Amino acid sequence: MEERLSSRINLNGIGMTSQRTRERLLGRLMEQGITSMEVLDIMRSTPRHIFLDEALAHRAYEDVALPIGYSQTISQPYIVARMSEIVANSESLESVLEIGTGCGYQTAIISKIAKKVYTIERIKPLLDRARRNLKLLGIRNVEFRHGDGSLGWSENAPFDAIITTAAPQTIPDELYQQLSPKDGRLVIPVGGDDQQDLKHIVKSGDQIQIDNLESVRFVPLLTGQVYN
Ligand code: SAH
Repeated sequence: MEERLSSRINLNGIGMTSQRTRERLLGRLMEQGITSMEVLDIMRSTPRHIFLDEALAHRAYEDVALPIGYSQTISQPYIVARMSEIVANSESLESVLEIGTGCGYQTAIISKIAKKVYTIERIKPLLDRARRNLKLLGIRNVEFRHGDGSLGWSENAPFDAIITTAAPQTIPDELYQQLSPKDGRLVIPVGGDDQQDLKHIVKSGDQIQIDNLESVRFVPLLTGQVYN
């Protein structure tokens, strides 16, 4: 009945969202040093254009962050790959907490690496959109929460990994506490509005090891919630 299948619901993509355009992005990720075949394969098979408004879908396979409304962005594919790669290195990934669901792109990638993903977003309409996007992709191992992710999600702690896709000025204590003591990994941008350090923290027992990975630019981690 509907001749003109919207590119949003066409999972395979057409034109600027075609498989060939996606392969070009994969090449770029490898050039930039992404080596995990697991992550690259997941990025290849996860359409990014369905996470964007129709007007921006043609730019989905450019390696850039793009607006998703509410002054927020979908993360740059390179950053999504990088954060996923760090987490994928971990031996057992039963459960991962993601803070800052946005439209759910990173969530979708992580859902293929971990058995269970818990994701928190403070802006309700974005969380609802992420829920719809993941449903469209048939992803079922994700639990969503509308709330302030800087408090973590204590009911489901400890987590094998925590990924934060919004930047605090300092790392909230709750996140350290909710990390598994058995090599739990936290990947988090830390710093001011213009630029932050992407940090990789590993917790073993009472020990905390912190590595600075690279300079990044994320939206800030904010407190409070937005309902509509
Ligand atoms: N993970 C997304 C990136 C979204 S941008 C992707 O894959 O594209 C970061 C998101 O963090 C925004 O949607 C923003 O609303 C959210 N955010 C900011 N502070 C937050 C907080 N304290 N708790 C939960 N989400 C927060």
